[in-house]
Amino acid sequence: MNRFTLVRLPTLQAASERVAKAPKTRRFRAGGIDLLDLLKEGLDAPDELVELRAIGGSAGEAMRGITTKDGAWSIGALVTLAQLAEFEDLGTAFAAVRDAAGSAATPGIRNAATLAGNLLQRPRCWYYRHVDLECLKKGGSQCFALTGDNRYHAILGGGPSFIVHPSTLAVALLAHDATVAITNAKGERTLPIAELFALPTVDPEREHTLASGDVITALTLPKAGAGQRSAYATAKEKASHDWPLGEAAVRCRIVDGKMLDVRVALGHVAPIPWRSQEAEGVLEGATPSAELFVKAAGAALAKAKPLDHNGYKIPLVAGLLRDALHRVTGLAE
Ligand SMILES: Cc1cc2nc3c(=O)[nH]c(=O)nc-3n(C[C@H](O)[C@H](O)[C@H](O)COP(=O)(O)OP(=O)(O)OC[C@H]3O[C@@H](n4cnc5c(N)ncnc54)[C@H](O)[C@@H]3O)c2cc1C
Ligand code: SF4
Repeated sequence: MNRFTLVRLPTLQAASERVAKAPKTRRFRAGGIDLLDLLKEGLDAPDELVELRAIGGSAGEAMRGITTKDGAWSIGALVTLAQLAEFEDLGTAFAAVRDAAGSAATPGIRNAATLAGNLLQRPRCWYYRHVDLECLKKGGSQCFALTGDNRYHAILGGGPSFIVHPSTLAVALLAHDATVAITNAKGERTLPIAELFALPTVDPEREHTLASGDVITALTLPKAGAGQRSAYATAKEKASHDWPLGEAAVRCRIVDGKMLDVRVALGHVAPIPWRSQEAEGVLEGATPSAELFVKAAGAALAKAKPLDHNGYKIPLVAGLLRDALHRVTGLAE
């Protein structure tokens, strides 16, 4: 690991400008979990880490807190996964967000890892994480996963890189149509969470659309409509200390026995958190039933193109989606 300086600046503006001035050698540090892994693994070598937790005043407070206004929830970028998992006020309307936060990583990691850091962590592809391999994501000329061991890789939306997006929280937040608040030297802006992520066809070396110096300050969950509920389901090889093999999150309103405003998001299937409008189309306005859920799961995976070693993800993720649908609607399995 190279030597670096930890820079503590008291304002959001100063932190943003500091990184924007030297994007190749300066990084923001939040919980530091992924960042320090990248440094230890020799995959990144910044000479300065700008400590976001040093930001003070009302901006720092907002980045560390969870607040509500007119029914919408604002979750600060520095809120830890543990804080979010324990935040009971989100209730059944946003259950997927709490459950996703509580399922990620280990209790120790959840105490340090932050919401924004979780969304911006780099992929786990073992070829990318190998210091001696220069794949497409590191500016090389080929994707080793395409013909190599691709058991954990993408079945939807892959190419030319076949990573799966590693963020558990992104899946639940996508199902909730969350918006991302961003600040840089030019000012503030918001964007739908779906626009935070970009497929490798845009640029195989990047997973998000932020510019250098952009600081995520908060994520907003829009006001829940009447009868809103959500559910999250995940499967891992190990119960803890592991990333998922597949995930599903569903948000809907149940009104007069029908499913309305349905959102379906899948995780660890594609290079971005994957919204399934095909499944939503099957479910919207329908009466919950086991047969309907089988049809929705089939629609969600219909376009999957498994690689040599990851065909198991199709039945796995179909099962996770059915599980989330049963739980969100209260329909017994
Ligand atoms: C054993 C293990 C198991 C794990 N299992 C899971 C899992 O199941 N699911 C899951 O989702 N994750 C899992 N993780 C990953 C872990 O959750 C992430 O590494 C962590 O959430 C990253 O958050 P952080 O605050 O530490 O980010 P950091 O490491 O501090 O930062 C990550 C990146 O985000 C940037 N950044 C951070 N905050 C901001 C901001 N506000 N604005 C702009 N840029 C910012 C940093 O510059 C850096 O590039 C696991 C990790 C380990 C070690
Ligand atoms: S899947 Fe992406 S990160 Fe992995 S080897 Fe291929 S190009 Fe590299």
